[in-house]
Amino acid sequence: MNTYVIAFGANMGDASATLHAAYAELATTWHCRAASHLYRSAPVGGVEQADFTNAVAVFETELTPHQVLDELHRVENQFGRTREVRWGPRTLDLDIITAWTDGEPVIVETPDLTLPHPRAFERSFVTVPWSDMQLAPEWQHLPGHGEISTLPSAQEELVRLPERLDT
Ligand code: ATP
Ligand code: CA
Ligand code: CA
Repeated sequence: MNTYVIAFGANMGDASATLHAAYAELATTWHCRAASHLYRSAPVGGVEQADFTNAVAVFETELTPHQVLDELHRVENQFGRTREVRWGPRTLDLDIITAWTDGEPVIVETPDLTLPHPRAFERSFVTVPWSDMQLAPEWQHLPGHGEISTLPSAQEELVRLPERLDT
């Protein structure tokens, strides 16, 4: 069995509604172990754009990492995702942060997929919601970087919203 940490982000349209709907879509076929609160964060990457809504969830599925990536792209497209400006505005962004197979970290280095996600360690909009889920310790490591609670929070402005991804 494979365990995946998936990051959700959106900053166009009704971002909260999109995140809830995308989560519901994935949860129809994958088993959700945990889902975080929604967070509001300022954009990174230098493009002038609206604040983001972010969240993290942990899923179990038999699918391989590339199959999961294909499924994430399918759901992104379903919600009208287009790719114009790198790190620019988007209706929905779904990233695989890290994965384990039977508890062992999965390492992938291919042109279309890198695991663990190479920029996750410096993104508080990933590490903070992930910590927030209060998972068992074995699911709170970013392979190569250690305990998520000890990673530097690169971004100060992160506001936790009352609602969760799954409520
Ligand atoms: P960032 O990767 O810095 O978060 P982004 O999410 O804006 O940037 P996208 O335009 O959504 O980047 O994705 C570009 C490509 O990144 C995807 O088509 C996918 O093939 C590739 N990719 C590589 N590793 C991952 C990963 N761990 N999760 C999701 N996509 C990945
Ligand atoms: Ca991303
Ligand atoms: Ca992405």
